[in-house]
Amino acid sequence: MKIATMEWRGRRGIGIVDAEAATVRPVLASGGAAGGEWSGRTLRERIEAGEPLSALLDCLGAPLPLAEVRLLAPIPEPRRNILCIGKNYRAHAEEFARSGFDTTGAPPGAAAPERPIVFTKATTTVIGPGDAILPHLGLTAQMDYEIELAVIIGRRGRGIAPADAYAHVWGYTIVNDITARDLQRDHQQWFLGKSLDTFCPMGPWAVTADEIDPGNTALRCYINGELRQEGNTRLFLFDIPALISCLSAGITLLPGDLIATGTPAGVGAGFVPPRFLRPGDEIRSVIDGIGEMTHRVAAG
Ligand code: MG
Repeated sequence: MKIATMEWRGRRGIGIVDAEAATVRPVLASGGAAGGEWSGRTLRERIEAGEPLSALLDCLGAPLPLAEVRLLAPIPEPRRNILCIGKNYRAHAEEFARSGFDTTGAPPGAAAPERPIVFTKATTTVIGPGDAILPHLGLTAQMDYEIELAVIIGRRGRGIAPADAYAHVWGYTIVNDITARDLQRDHQQWFLGKSLDTFCPMGPWAVTADEIDPGNTALRCYINGELRQEGNTRLFLFDIPALISCLSAGITLLPGDLIATGTPAGVGAGFVPPRFLRPGDEIRSVIDGIGEMTHRVAAG
C-alpha cells in the first residue's frame, strides 16, 4: 500500500495511492459518503498508535487525480532526527575515500567501514516532493546529492536481534541525503553538512513493508536528466537487519523513526573534477517499487 501525505483545496491529510499512481483516495475522519471531512490524524500518529491499515480502508473518500494534489513528505515532521548510515555501499565508500572530502579517519586502503557509520540529520531538513532545495550560498559551495532507501520503523524496540528486525519495520520511502561537502570536510563530522534546511527531500509517499524487497531494490538518481547514481540494495555492506540491530543495541527505536540506509556510488564528490549541484539543477530520485520525486535547487 502506498500512503501519501498531501494537501488539496485547503485540506491536509493522508491518502491511499492507487497501484498505477494516477489517483489518491483521501482518508476521511469516519467511514461514509465521499466528500466527508478528511481525517486530521497524520501517518506518524497512526504508526505510533499501531493502527491497523484496515482502519484506513474503511474510511476512504472519492479518488482525486494525483496531479491535482500537493504531495508533502510522508512524515513531514519526524519526532526526532533522521538516523543515517554513511558509506554503506562499497563503491561509494571507495569514491568518497578517493575524493578527499572524507576526514573521518578511514585509513588508506580501508575505505569500507568495519561497522556501520551513523550520523543524523535535523528534523528541519525535511521537505516534500517538488519543494525547492535551498542552495545556502555563502555557507556552502559544494552541495551534493545522495539517493537513499529510508526505513520507517513501526514497532518500538531496544536490543533487536537481526532475525527480528523486519518485524519492527513499518515500511519505506525515498530520501535524498543532500550534503554540503565543504562543511562535512571542514568540521570533521557529518551532522552540520547534512542538516541544512531543505537537505532531506522525502517522498513521494510511504510504502508498506510488503511493497518491496528491501534486500533487492534498485535506486537511481538523475541530475538534469543525466543518470548519475544507479545502485541496488543487495549491495549494502550492512543490510537492514544489521542496521536495526546496531542502532537499537543501546538506543530504543521508536515508531515513526526514519533510517536512511546510505547511498550508492555516483555522488558529485566522486567525479574528477567534482560535479556539485548548482542553483537551477533538477534532481530526480527514483526507487523501484516506491516511485520517484523531483526537486530543483532554488536560485538563492
Ligand atoms: Mg547519505
